[in-house]
Amino acid sequence: MIRENIETVRENIRKAAERAGRNPEDVLLIGVTKTKPVEMMQEAIDEGITDIGENRVQEIMEKYEHIKGDPKWHLIGHLQTNKVKYIIDKVDLIHSVESISLAEEINKRAEKIGKVQKVLLEVNVSGEESKFGISPENIMEFCEKIAEFKNIRVSGLMTVAPFTEDEGILRKVFSDLRKISLDISTKFYDTIYMEELSMGMTNDYEIAIEEGATMVRVGTGIFGNR
Ligand SMILES: *Cc1c(COP(=O)(O)O)cnc(C)c1O
Repeated sequence: MIRENIETVRENIRKAAERAGRNPEDVLLIGVTKTKPVEMMQEAIDEGITDIGENRVQEIMEKYEHIKGDPKWHLIGHLQTNKVKYIIDKVDLIHSVESISLAEEINKRAEKIGKVQKVLLEVNVSGEESKFGISPENIMEFCEKIAEFKNIRVSGLMTVAPFTEDEGILRKVFSDLRKISLDISTKFYDTIYMEELSMGMTNDYEIAIEEGATMVRVGTGIFGNR
């Protein structure tokens, strides 16, 4: 099943990119493996998945040693400051930076191991109270502060869209995130890099690609229900 699912998702990515006049190769498929066993992850990696997403530090630590093929690990869920030390040497990209205290800790731990940690800033575009993320009103001020950290490289933005089937709402959230990234890249062109837009999950990744996503995070669509 995993192989067929990956093929289907890749085909959908290709079509969505083409509808938007984009190159499908500019969209990275991140396989979200939370709650799924190492065997399933390994199967996906053997089928060509190069990047995997997990939302819990504990799960990365449990699985890390058992995975062969050297995939890139993405932390996509909320990260507690006191857990940064466990994953700083393991993750390629942290998608969920949303407080300065967290950034400070990432910077400190990265410096300790001689790494420049790539991160995305999580933006709460929809303003839902249940969601993590920096509010659009505060994002410029946040950028000013995080630009000071030498061992952090901000590479773009991430958002989680509301749980809805309303295409209009989803499209608006994704296009708003893109606008915010354009504003940031104008203002902070030499300190902060707006190369990535991490947006889109199983139910909405095609819309996200049409609106400019460079990374989509697909779990259920590859690995089935959790
Ligand atoms: C679980 C999760 C995903 C994947 O969700 P699916 O709907 O299963 O594709 C993507 N992003 C984040 C932040 C997640 O926690």
